[in-house]
Amino acid sequence: MHEVVLASGNPGKLRELAALLDDFGWRLRPQSDFDVPPVAETGTTFVENAIIKARHAAQHCGLPALADDSGIEVDALDGAPGVYSARFAGADASDADNNALLIEKLRDLPPAERGARYRALIVYMRHAADPAPLICEGSWEGRIRLQAAGDGGFGYDPHFFLPRLGCTSAELEPAEKNRISHRGQALAQLRQRLAGLDA
Ligand code: IMP
Repeated sequence: MHEVVLASGNPGKLRELAALLDDFGWRLRPQSDFDVPPVAETGTTFVENAIIKARHAAQHCGLPALADDSGIEVDALDGAPGVYSARFAGADASDADNNALLIEKLRDLPPAERGARYRALIVYMRHAADPAPLICEGSWEGRIRLQAAGDGGFGYDPHFFLPRLGCTSAELEPAEKNRISHRGQALAQLRQRLAGLDA
């Protein structure tokens, strides 16, 4: 079976990526299986950081690697926190810290001014020196809800409201979130492109 290292330590992401690739015939191994040391995410774009993480894991493990760099862009904050979503409230911030800071910044704005989107950049590198990594992208529009709702998902999900569905992404069933989310879109693209390469 094709063994691939997942270049992430975020349990929420790992859970979603593993479910999205469940039937793909890959043996996915979290990078914690190999004690991959952390790497500095020094890029200023999602794609740069995804490549940094995939290359680092591939180098360390000697395996193909899959990385996801993702985050939330809030219109009223000129796209922040963006690539800094995991560290919005500081280097060791928890999801609760990040959500509290986000709500503090937006609490005086009406709903129509709290537009936001999730973005996910997924990179697949066949080996650490792969000169042509596969790069796939997804984005998911919503708006920030001041009151948290739901206990599914991770990160900003309890505050990411989907007007058309009338709920937050933390209130969706995991399979439903994966079907429509930024990560689900990027993974669907990746699966299609990999299938095309096999043909
Ligand atoms: P990364 O690990 O540097 O890519 O940071 C990703 C961060 O973006 C996460 O820690 C979350 O704060 C946020 N994020 C990305 N995708 C999601 C999602 O699907 N739900 C909630 N938060 C997300």
